[in-house]
Amino acid sequence: MRQVGHFIGGKHVEGKSGRTTDFYQPMTGEVIGQVALASKAELREAVENAKAAQPAWAATNPQRRARVLMKFLELISKEMDSLAELLAREHGKTLPDAMGDIQRGVEVVEFACGIPHLMKGEFTEGAGPGIDIYSMRQALGVVAGITPFNFPAMIPMWKFAPAIACGNAFILKPSERDPGVPMRLAELMIEAGLPAGILNVVNGDKEAVDAILDDPDIKAVGFVGSSAIAQYVYSRATASGKRAQCFGGAKNHMIIMPDADMDQTVDALIGAGYGSAGERCMAISVAVPVGKATADALVERLIPRVEALKVGPSTDPTADFGPMVTKAHRDKVLSYVDLGVQEGAKLLVDGRNFTMQGYENGFYMGGCLFDEVRPDMRIYKEEIFGPVLSVVRAENYEEALRLPTEHEYGNGVAIFTRDGDTARDFTSRVDVGMVGVNVPIPVPIAYYTFGGWKASGFGDLNQHGPDSIRFYTKTKTVTSRWPSGIRSGAEFSIPTMK
Ligand code: NAD
Repeated sequence: MRQVGHFIGGKHVEGKSGRTTDFYQPMTGEVIGQVALASKAELREAVENAKAAQPAWAATNPQRRARVLMKFLELISKEMDSLAELLAREHGKTLPDAMGDIQRGVEVVEFACGIPHLMKGEFTEGAGPGIDIYSMRQALGVVAGITPFNFPAMIPMWKFAPAIACGNAFILKPSERDPGVPMRLAELMIEAGLPAGILNVVNGDKEAVDAILDDPDIKAVGFVGSSAIAQYVYSRATASGKRAQCFGGAKNHMIIMPDADMDQTVDALIGAGYGSAGERCMAISVAVPVGKATADALVERLIPRVEALKVGPSTDPTADFGPMVTKAHRDKVLSYVDLGVQEGAKLLVDGRNFTMQGYENGFYMGGCLFDEVRPDMRIYKEEIFGPVLSVVRAENYEEALRLPTEHEYGNGVAIFTRDGDTARDFTSRVDVGMVGVNVPIPVPIAYYTFGGWKASGFGDLNQHGPDSIRFYTKTKTVTSRWPSGIRSGAEFSIPTMK
């Protein structure tokens, strides 16, 4: 049984609150450890450490800060296999998918290695008589990130890499459901040469989160998780004067036009709907075929593919997806399938009774496929976050466009078509933050930014890419006159640049 405490001031420290929670190995259903749940005082200890270490780190030149990240990349690539195995065992996703989780985080670390360039300010010579103006970006101080269970490597790296590259000290509050990988990432950063106190991991639940939100020394909070908590974190963090960027849940649609290549579409849909057991914020959970002929052709091809999905333990390299993160989450997803049946949707493939031979206590379920789902049903309106795909039939393009546009969530959306004009109209008019054209999961790469709209995102700056540098720095603008000072005496009217 593993005991996971916190990582504060460059070392492991035991939890002192007396509160812990179990975490599992989903593929067998066993409890494999207890993770400490921090008190307000323990969070404060991490903040004190971070606050003491941060000024020297911000004063370290950006190239040297970048070199720590470069070394970290080297260490992580050496450890890729064991890190992926740790991740798969705690989360449940398959090994190749766990590697993808790490790799998409690594790409943001690579982006953050460009910090000497990314943090450059602006300069205007001769903005007025003898006047030069320049701006510079300075670190905020101590900042924090609160992350979800479903990407325990990628999302922590999305948060801490740009923040630390900018010269901040970082407090990470990862998910209590799979704490192993975030702790190992913090150790590797120290091995890479990061000064103690610049990256701290405080494990915990609502108590630790509230302590972060109320702490006067934490200047910015990044959150990723479900929408209700994203909105709560956003309101409470901003009420205490912090910057906040909070990303929430999703209901991502894929529009399938009559001219789409049906083989490509079905391949894309199967991977995007069921990969990682649907526990991805960019998973496709709603397929919208346009016209009856498209819908019938789609469903006909989907049924055998969903029935043939291979569910397996996380260590099986041939599995399409593994178990779900916890029994409670699996049971919640199963209850959504029951609800869909009650609401009158047509359950074409029923994965509810799946059991994995030899792993009977694991948190498995098979893929489920619903047809004739309607927008007034709860299974359409709410995020299910499991291997359940809903087909909503649309009569025409305008009706299909309205569905994601009018949905409460606005994370990702995709259109499959061979018509450039339709794709162009769709990308322009759809009210969703990230759009794929013949790309089912349009997660922007590291040097673009990631962020959903509506109930999928609260705040005005996205994650990674140029927005992350803006989020983790403040701009100071200097107006200077050299060398002889003000020669003509006091001026009482406002200076202009006429
Ligand atoms: P969650 O909201 O349960 O937890 C997220 C974080 O909030 C965790 O660190 C957790 O400890 C903390 N938390 C939980 N309850 C809290 C409370 N009452 N008060 C304060 N903090 C609390 O989310 P999850 O189940 O870990 O992750 C899945 C969700 O995350 C899904 O809704 C998914 O769509 C979303 N997600 C969104 C994105 C995105 O970029 N938009 C990315 C990944 C996941």
